[in-house]
Amino acid sequence: MSGTAQIGVTGLAVMGRNLARNFARNGYTVALHNRTVARTRELVEEFGDEGDFIATESAQDFVAALERPRRLVVMVKAGEATDAVIAEFAPLLETGDVIIDGGNAHFEDTRRRERELREQGIHFVGTGISGGEEGALEGPSIMPGGSEESYDSLGPMLEKISAKAKDGAPCVTHIGPDGAGHFVKMTHNGIEYADMQLIGEAYQLLRDVAGYSPAQIADIFRTWNTGRLDSYLIEITAEVLSHVDASTGEPFVDVVLDQAEQKGTGRWTVQIALDLGVPVSAIAEAVFARSVSGHADLRDASRHLTGPTARRLGADEAAAFADQVEQALYASKIVAYTQGFHEIAAGSERYDWNIDLGEVASIWRGGCIIRAAFLDRITSAYEARPRLPSLLADKSFAEEIAAAQGDWRTVIATAVTGGVPTPAFAATLAYYDSLRAERLPAALTQGQRDYFGAHTYHRTDREGTFHTLWGGDR
Ligand code: NAP
Repeated sequence: MSGTAQIGVTGLAVMGRNLARNFARNGYTVALHNRTVARTRELVEEFGDEGDFIATESAQDFVAALERPRRLVVMVKAGEATDAVIAEFAPLLETGDVIIDGGNAHFEDTRRRERELREQGIHFVGTGISGGEEGALEGPSIMPGGSEESYDSLGPMLEKISAKAKDGAPCVTHIGPDGAGHFVKMTHNGIEYADMQLIGEAYQLLRDVAGYSPAQIADIFRTWNTGRLDSYLIEITAEVLSHVDASTGEPFVDVVLDQAEQKGTGRWTVQIALDLGVPVSAIAEAVFARSVSGHADLRDASRHLTGPTARRLGADEAAAFADQVEQALYASKIVAYTQGFHEIAAGSERYDWNIDLGEVASIWRGGCIIRAAFLDRITSAYEARPRLPSLLADKSFAEEIAAAQGDWRTVIATAVTGGVPTPAFAATLAYYDSLRAERLPAALTQGQRDYFGAHTYHRTDREGTFHTLWGGDR
């Protein structure tokens, strides 16, 4: 017998419960399930009047409540919990049913689960969902992987509950087969790390070099948010910086322990980039910067190390410097996105996913944490040249960097001479200069490798592989 719920959600913590409410608010009948039954009851008690919910207390009842083909969203802790839930539900499902994993799964786990469930005739749709708690309720950016067939049945529902970009387009697209959706979500988070680190470095420079207070920097960010840096992260940065701690009256940012935490998707982005041979230095520096911040003992033991103190600028100079920091932030941001999109292109090629990079930028325009006006430009760049080898090969981005680079270099030089750590700013500029360099010291590296390990080298003037018989007593 078939049930009446068009969709089911199992795992009703912050994300699952808001996603279930989002489906219900959009007119779908939603079956509910959670390992701990109290959560299901709470949801219905608090929000039962928002739509049509069917609360269930066992896996059997949950599956029986779903219309066929069944569509069930799993929103539980990523990793072993997801495997446990799949093992519980898969035996109760039939050919053609669809399991949607909306957690932050590692894409290799998604590839494995998709393969195993496909043998059983079940579609497994690993789906990136970005936007946090609020996004899940109001409309997230959704990145589903899995089969074309599963998207045919699921796509219209996801389009309805997703965020909408300013032009009204839904922030969801079928990313590609098996793990493609979770791969793109992972890289989204990696780019988010880089974006946040770059913003953090801009803040530190405005504080230490320009001498601005958090409230003044909040105003600067608000101004930036009306221009080309218009984005959710710049907007919330201004909010955080202007927030005053109620108990001390101090700026909130001054009473928070400066040790950044991480859940792992940034680290995965870097690990996979290393495997794929893709230089994502901005993301890597962002992950390392959080790691450095967390080494409290090391930092305590290092406070005696000498270095310059940043020279404080006068008021006029400070205002001009703030403009230069905006240029630097924008140029570094272009490079960070260039690196992130390179990783997606490389993953797509390695796993044969055929990901449309312009579409990815397009569905990140709304709902997700890195939503930004800037993403429209990335979509246009890939629409104009779908095989664009790098965002930096796009004429308009190259021109913008050309215009920004004087200030970009000045800001980084100021940071270096003033002893203000700006690892992501510096890494993005080094990447840019590496790409444009006529010659890289890699030639010397090849010589060293050939010297100590007979690793051979190629020449600029002849085809073939060469080895030099180095002299000495080796
Ligand atoms: P969570 O804290 O990651 O997970 C809690 C949920 O998982 C609860 O419903 C819990 O059930 C269930 N669970 C844990 N172990 C289980 C097991 N062995 N068997 C069955 N259920 C189990 O919840 P969340 O923050 O809402 O996130 C859900 C997923 O979305 C995660 O994968 C997370 O990474 C991803 N995500 C989160 C965010 C965010 O902003 N929070 C954003 C995007 C994606 P009980 O109630 O019974 O304990």
